[in-house]
Amino acid sequence: MTNHQPTDPYLPDPHLTSLHRPERRELILRAAVREGLLDPVAAPLAAFLDLDAVAATVAALHRAFPGPVEVLHAFAAKANSLVPVLARLRELGMGCEVASPGEFAQALAAGFEPGRIIYDSPAKTRAELARALELGVAVNIDNWQELARVDELMMGRQTESRIGVRVNPQVGGGSIGAMSTATATSKFGITLADEGNAERLVAAFRDRPWLQWLHCHVGSQGCPLDLMADGVAATVALAEKINGELGRRQVVGLDIGGGLPVNFAGDLVTPGYPEYVERLRAHAPALLSGDFQVVTEFGRSVLAKSGFTAGYVEYTKKSGGRAIAITSAGVQVATRTVFAPEAWPLRISAHDSTGAAKHGAPVEQDIAGPACFAGDLVAKARPLPLLEAGDLVALLDTGAYYSSTPFGYNSLLEPAVYGAEVAADGTTVRFALLRRAETVEDLLARTGA
Ligand SMILES: *Cc1c(COP(=O)(O)O)cnc(C)c1O
Repeated sequence: MTNHQPTDPYLPDPHLTSLHRPERRELILRAAVREGLLDPVAAPLAAFLDLDAVAATVAALHRAFPGPVEVLHAFAAKANSLVPVLARLRELGMGCEVASPGEFAQALAAGFEPGRIIYDSPAKTRAELARALELGVAVNIDNWQELARVDELMMGRQTESRIGVRVNPQVGGGSIGAMSTATATSKFGITLADEGNAERLVAAFRDRPWLQWLHCHVGSQGCPLDLMADGVAATVALAEKINGELGRRQVVGLDIGGGLPVNFAGDLVTPGYPEYVERLRAHAPALLSGDFQVVTEFGRSVLAKSGFTAGYVEYTKKSGGRAIAITSAGVQVATRTVFAPEAWPLRISAHDSTGAAKHGAPVEQDIAGPACFAGDLVAKARPLPLLEAGDLVALLDTGAYYSSTPFGYNSLLEPAVYGAEVAADGTTVRFALLRRAETVEDLLARTGA
């Protein structure tokens, strides 16, 4: 007997790089088939999150913002609101950004302290605001009417909450309209350039000592880094204007939102957090001077590339000369890709029934989902080794905004989601259930049976 502690073979390597990702995916997929987590009869669809890759990503985020700045990196819960995922991110040192009573409850269930939660919905009810202020959750006010509502709630109240105003720097949109929140007419925040707003904001801060933060979120996927950094710069400039005109350091913190775009075209993680921080330094040097506390709200970039969704090919056919593979993975787990394929293309990998990568000459194929509408295609005319019934397909980079938020069309059941850790020797995989598969009984219960 020795008292020598064996090192945990599953300790994540913070320096995991994109080079490891394809190998790790195949390893995880093969292990999932071996263990029956994927099974043509019992479990034809499941999603996986490489937890080591997630840990490496969060470590990279923390490294990218070095001192003297006090930074809270709050994960945007809408990107993946599974409670065990949120809990894991909390253990990795993140806070949590929420935007609905449901996400708020999920964040609390995941163990986040109220002081590390940020409440950002544009439609907060009186009850939501009162609860957030009571618990000391940070609140970003979206509009003038919400400010008046908070005024009422603050009467005679003490709160630990950090309270800020979301501004819309109106710097313009990115390549995806629905993801662009800093256009001239976006529904979010108080616009900076519209007549009188900047002065009205200065006055609002002057009259309210408890108003101490500014928030902006320029957009998600599709926004260039310089556009995002421009929006942050306009927000920092407003903070300095307020502090200058009031002659006191009233604005103590800036919440710069999330939105780092994800590369859906390959395994490379690009842009990375350091590149964004470099653009922030160039556009808004005061942000990182140490004069302000900083909050970030990244979602997609934290998880997307560490997840994939795997489903079996049920049938194949040829129609009008086009090869079609009909699989279990469609609109219920890849909603945006199916409804807006130009904006949200996904990489797909082809595997045999053991999970091993399929080789073979690429053939243009439609990869279809199971739903009963013709548009349920996750890829059109995609060159892949010719798929056969019983093969597996994996939809890549789906760790955020995909299987975690399924779409209820056709009463298709929500698949199980598993976390995976790969042992340091690179051979064994340990799985943890993050969400069990929905059963027919669950479905009946939620549909009023
Ligand atoms: C969606 C959203 C985020 C996260 O955006 P990502 O593109 O996932 O990083 C952050 N903040 C706010 C206010 C959001 O609406």
